[in-house]
Amino acid sequence: MVGGGTVGAWCAYFLRRAGLGNVAVIEKGVLGQGSSSRAAGVVRVQGGTPEAVRLGRWSRSFYLRQHAELGTDSGFVQQGYLLPCFTEPEVAAARARILMQQALGLPVRWLTADEVDAINPTMAPGCTLGASYCAEDGYITPPRNVAAYTAALVRAGVLIAERTRFSGLSAAGGSCDAHTARGTVSAGLVVLAAGPQLAAVGALAGITIPAGGVRHHVAVTEEHPAFGSTPMAFDVPSGLYWRPEEGGLLFGMSDPDEPPGENQCVDFDYLALMRSQLAALVPLTAGLGVRRAWAATIDYTPDHLPIIGAAPGLDRVFVAAAGGAGMMWGPMSPTAPSPTARVLLTLEAIQNAPGITASRLGERLGVTERAARRYVAILREAGLPIESVSGHYGGYQVGHGLRLPPLTFTAAEAAGLVMAVLEGHPPAADPADLVGAALAKIVRVLPARVATLVRSIRDGTELPERAHADTRVSPELTGALIESCAAGRRLRLAYHLGWRGGGTDAAMEVDPWAVVLRHSRWYLLCWSHTRSARRVLRVDRIAAAQPLLDTFSPPAGLDALGTLEEHLSQGWAYPVDVLIDASMRDVAGWLPRSLGTLTPTDDGRTRLSGSTADPGWYAGRLAILPFGFRVAGSAELCRAMADLGHRLIASAAAESAAAESAAAESGAEPSFEFDNNQ
Ligand SMILES: Cc1cc2nc3c(=O)[nH]c(=O)nc-3n(C[C@H](O)[C@H](O)[C@H](O)COP(=O)(O)OP(=O)(O)OC[C@H]3O[C@@H](n4cnc5c(N)ncnc54)[C@H](O)[C@@H]3O)c2cc1C
Repeated sequence: MVGGGTVGAWCAYFLRRAGLGNVAVIEKGVLGQGSSSRAAGVVRVQGGTPEAVRLGRWSRSFYLRQHAELGTDSGFVQQGYLLPCFTEPEVAAARARILMQQALGLPVRWLTADEVDAINPTMAPGCTLGASYCAEDGYITPPRNVAAYTAALVRAGVLIAERTRFSGLSAAGGSCDAHTARGTVSAGLVVLAAGPQLAAVGALAGITIPAGGVRHHVAVTEEHPAFGSTPMAFDVPSGLYWRPEEGGLLFGMSDPDEPPGENQCVDFDYLALMRSQLAALVPLTAGLGVRRAWAATIDYTPDHLPIIGAAPGLDRVFVAAAGGAGMMWGPMSPTAPSPTARVLLTLEAIQNAPGITASRLGERLGVTERAARRYVAILREAGLPIESVSGHYGGYQVGHGLRLPPLTFTAAEAAGLVMAVLEGHPPAADPADLVGAALAKIVRVLPARVATLVRSIRDGTELPERAHADTRVSPELTGALIESCAAGRRLRLAYHLGWRGGGTDAAMEVDPWAVVLRHSRWYLLCWSHTRSARRVLRVDRIAAAQPLLDTFSPPAGLDALGTLEEHLSQGWAYPVDVLIDASMRDVAGWLPRSLGTLTPTDDGRTRLSGSTADPGWYAGRLAILPFGFRVAGSAELCRAMADLGHRLIASAAAESAAAESAAAESGAEPSFEFDNNQ
């Protein structure tokens, strides 16, 4: 995504949410530094074309559901919007527009001149011939919108590359290379969303985009109690609009005669003209001071409508421009899902939130409540057991017996699966846990008989004690690490050095090669750029992992587990050097690689070199070798071997003494049985 304004950022968020694994926003400055943080925030669903109406409605419904989806919002306030008419041709145009909007289901209506005066008493009485009015229109707070999309991007795992200027494109073998001042990003899809600089960015990519930027002024008057509840208003022919803002009136306008180009300086003569135009329509503003005023470059397109779609002549490159109405149309969904996709999304939403109501389902799918009910009906027609939940609001849940071919389980398979999950991750007994939620999903779709069986296994499992909590890894973080390994994306890690509560956090940049599970513990095998060395990190000690722009290729033919084990044998306090009287092939089957590296010697024997923190433990591992061996050069290990030998001899002596006396008592011969599993 080129451009970190409202268009690019929300588009990146929706692409990620639609399932794209890696999404990066390339921004030459910082997020929102363009027009998106300086806008007036007006959100108008009563657009002039059917497409504009649909986009406006989509944005409004998104602003309304934002908090539920993201835990934050863009500050949408439903204020109502008047588009007054001053001439008969304007009235005719407004009436035709209203018919089109009503046909699309918009609650827009025509207000007579008297009704306009009544609904907005601050306007000069009788100055209009009437107005079109929509109560659903409103405004957002643009800086809050920037904060909301920043939080959404971080939460969705979108890579944010600020202070990174896009400088061109080149197509290379199945992907598209976006060049930046900080390196090249190989992408499957590139979206250009550079607002007022879109034409320049298009030129860098080799295409002509009919878009531009021009200065636009906005100012806010002093407070006045009359403004609080008045609807917003837009004088379409002059381009002057106004709305309540913190007790005063915010008003804005572009000079139609101003040549295009970047400009952020306030033209005070033009501001005076705007003020006099406003005072003619809202007389009490004439006596009010201006609290603040600013100018910024607004984006435009020739017909003031958005440009969204594939760039002509360029494979995998898309353009998204809001045509100067990015607050109204900015958070456009990059692709409207097909009906089939919506049916599948319906099923997913019901599975994830059993009891979800039709209206919440509609919000989730970006459709009306009625349409959401239709998608539920399609699922039922297809034979899927979607049950209605009774209750105050009613809702839907997936009934038993939902089979998603080809995934079906016998009772034994289902039980085995649940047991394996619980053994590996005991917190999965709790449906509030992430893995537990996934498990609950599987249990819900099993036939009732099998579900009862596995539920009894799950519910009979004790939740793990807190003692295990310190080595538990976060599935989200582990998933993100695995994704970065697969994508070859460098990471910045916050890593905890030290033990149980003590120690410090260190930052390091690594190329993640592989995530490996060894003896119930998760490790990240990586190359540390901070240390210029190969590293093995415990995943439970990684506090955060932030993907960076740089990419890498892991060593060819990497044997992740082998390399990890070999790595784990190095760097301990006591060096180990052992000569074993057998070939390397024979020895390899007896010793784990974490004990050290095996090398053949010239005389057909094998040398084991490694290190250990615990010579006693190491001696025990060596004792299982069925070959002769000699410990060289490690006094501690020699001592530990000698101790072990004495203990074995002593226990054998004690055992045979006891056996002899028992045999003497019973008169029987001693006999021993060996259990190979011990
Ligand atoms: C004063 C003013 C008032 C407005 N009022 C309203 C309103 O009331 N309602 C409404 O709907 N709309 C309004 N708008 C329009 C709205 O703000 C824009 O349509 C919208 O912000 C455009 O969003 P964007 O993401 O396309 O562009 P921007 O927010 O400008 O973002 C584009 C980003 O691309 C970056 N970029 C450019 N070149 C490069 C490059 N080479 N490499 C990397 N990054 C690059 C820029 O730094 C910028 O951050 C107003 C605009 C202004 C200026």
